[in-house]
Formats: sequence, structure tokens, C-alpha cells
Amino acid sequence: MLIAEALSICQDCRKIWKASELADITHGIFERVSPGEPMPSGECPDTDCGALCQPIASDHPSAFEIGNQHGYLCPSCTKGDKLYISATVTAALLPDGSDTTDSDTEWEVGDPAWCGCGWRGKVENLIVIELSE
Ligand SMILES: [Zn+2]
Ligand SMILES: [Zn+2]
Repeated sequence: MLIAEALSICQDCRKIWKASELADITHGIFERVSPGEPMPSGECPDTDCGALCQPIASDHPSAFEIGNQHGYLCPSCTKGDKLYISATVTAALLPDGSDTTDSDTEWEVGDPAWCGCGWRGKVENLIVIELSE
């Protein structure tokens, strides 16, 4: 399983990358990093971007940036905006149907989870990162 600390976030497009996906910093690291700034972990591999990336341990993304408020990322594509969890929902049965609005949606680590990229696994396989406020 991936450890969250090995992930980096692009300072421009805010995409999250694994260490193995980052491009080497090709030019001008001393012009691009101001004194006192943390050392970047690499360059964004997105050819339209190429901005510097910081370790996610020092620059937490927000729930809005990753796409969910639980800090979950897909272990395959490291995105969090296409995740699904097959959770248990309690429904109140009513004469004209059912109502789940009073139910807290809960899931267990062993519940099925999947991602729009095609990854399938369990909740316990998801990467969990710390989010900024
Ligand atoms: Zn980028
Ligand atoms: Zn995915």
C-alpha cells in the first residue's frame, strides 16, 4: 500500500502525483525556489503544466481540491473525485416508498470501494491523506 507521505501536490494545477510519476526538475531550481521555501519534490509530469510539486506532507490539499472531504485517494490514479464506496444505508420503510434522510451513511474498512479509473478494491486500500481546513 502507498504511504501518503510519498505523494506530492503540484503547486499550480494541484494534481496529486506519486513519487514515481514526478518529472525531474529540469532547469533553474535556484531561480524557481525562494530562500526559505521547502524544497520541491519534483516537477508536474503534466506537459501542459510542469510546475514544481511539494510533498503532500508539507502542503495539504483541501477537500475541494481532491474532490471529497474524507481525505481518500484512489491507490491507482491518486485522484479523489471519482471514488465510490458501497456503504450500508438504513432506510425507513414508508407507505409510499422509503426514506434514508435520517440515516448516517457508514462504511467499514472491508466494504467495497471503486474509482472511475477502473480501480476496484476495499475502503482499507484507499490512500488517506490529511486535508487542509
Ligand atoms: Zn501541475
Ligand atoms: Zn482511480
